[in-house]
Formats: sequence, C-alpha cells, structure tokens
Amino acid sequence: MYQDIDYRVEGPVAYILHARPEARNAESKRLLDEMDAALDQAVADPAVRVIVIGGQGDHFSAGHDLKEAQRDRQGFTVEERWAYEQKRYFDYALRIWDCPKPTIARVQGACIAGGFMVANLCDLVIASDDAFFADPVVRTLSCAAVEVLIHPWVMGLRRAKEFLYTGERMTAVEAREIGMVNRVVPRAELEAATRELAEKISGTPPFALSLVKRSLNRSFDAQGFRTALSAHFDIHQLSHVTDEFARMREAGLASAINRGKE
Ligand code: ZN
Repeated sequence: MYQDIDYRVEGPVAYILHARPEARNAESKRLLDEMDAALDQAVADPAVRVIVIGGQGDHFSAGHDLKEAQRDRQGFTVEERWAYEQKRYFDYALRIWDCPKPTIARVQGACIAGGFMVANLCDLVIASDDAFFADPVVRTLSCAAVEVLIHPWVMGLRRAKEFLYTGERMTAVEAREIGMVNRVVPRAELEAATRELAEKISGTPPFALSLVKRSLNRSFDAQGFRTALSAHFDIHQLSHVTDEFARMREAGLASAINRGKE
C-alpha cells in the first residue's frame, strides 16, 4: 500500500523505512506523507511497542528530494512554500518527537539535511560505523539550515555552530562521543543490534515509558525547545527568498547538490 516507504511489523517492533535506495532515499512529498501515515498506523496498532525509522540500501537518507522540489515547487509563492514546509517538514518532524511510543533511528551511510532532521527527532539513534551526518545547506544553498533546528539540542551549541558553519561531515564515532548517537555498531550488525535494542525496550511497561518520554521532552520544552524551533522555522522561510539563495539557485541546484556531496 506504500510506495516510497517500507512498513512492516515484526513482533513488538514496527519498521518504517525510507524505500527509495536508487535515489539515496531522498524524501519526496509522497515519502514524507507515507512516513507520517505509517507513524499513525504504528501508534494505533496495540501490538507495536517500539518504532524504528530507517532506510533501505546503503544510506539512511540524503535529505529532501531537491530534484522534485525544483520540478514541482520552484514557482511556489511565499505562502505556498510556507504551507508546504510547515506541514511536511516541521509538523511531521515534531509528530515524530511527540510520538507516544519510543522511536529509534537506525542509521547507515548518509544522514543528511532533511534525513538528519528525521533521525534526530527520534528518541534514540543507533548508527553503523559507516554512517555520517551533515547539514551542508547553509554553504550549498544559502539556506538557514534545515527547517527544524534540532542541532544545538542534540549536539551542543558549540559543535552545532561548527557543523553548520562548515557543512562538514560528522562520523558516527564522533556523533557518539558528543552524545548525539547512542550506539555505533559494525555495518553488518546494524539490523540485529537495532532489533535487540528495540526488543529490550519493548519489555518496558508502555504507559510508564510514554509518561517518562513526556517528562523528558518537557524538560526541553521548559528550556524553550518548541519556541526556539518555531522561531527558526520562520527565519528559515526568509532564507528561501533572499538574494543569496536566488544567486545560488541560478548557479544551479544540481551543482549545489554535488558540492554538498564533496
Ligand atoms: Zn525550507
């Protein structure tokens, strides 16, 4: 029933996987809509205790599908872009954060920009040793980072600044050292290690778990989490209509994407 994601339930664990490996799991409009629908499905299914978000193939996700954006949304008005990104990027991401069931991001290969956002709104992150994280859009597109500025909350302020100012990749091992990733395992063991972690968590009483998740997330809300993210979303929208952004786009989105890969 889904085309751009793979959804399956194995025992107490639901798997929601980006399923466009031929496109490095770029997040199309349909993929994001399906991921959000699958999240609802997993929450509604009483058999599901833990939700794993991952990607088929070599990568977690290279981020939003910029080719599709260029084809279908380049002519969007400010109002249309705002509505599109509010729903599919901001609201969908926060729905992962607010999901009453525990979530685990299972990350291999590239976890970039929009993919970085999705992974980091999960409760836990388990990565293979070949995984890397990047949000290069400040440098490549003159965009003010991705729509959800989760970075300082998961990597600390100083590291977030370096990450966004340089656009450099962060390895899985470094991500674990700074506390952004819970565990790093060899690539061949990623699926088994994730299943083991998810099954362990599935043995925790679900209502107590959902309550402690609410309290942990509220400890961020008490520090202004949602207000800061909402403010950044607004600023980010401005960066889509700057002269800098227009010049970058004229220089070619394709070359920008390639620069991001370097
Ligand atoms: Zn945007």
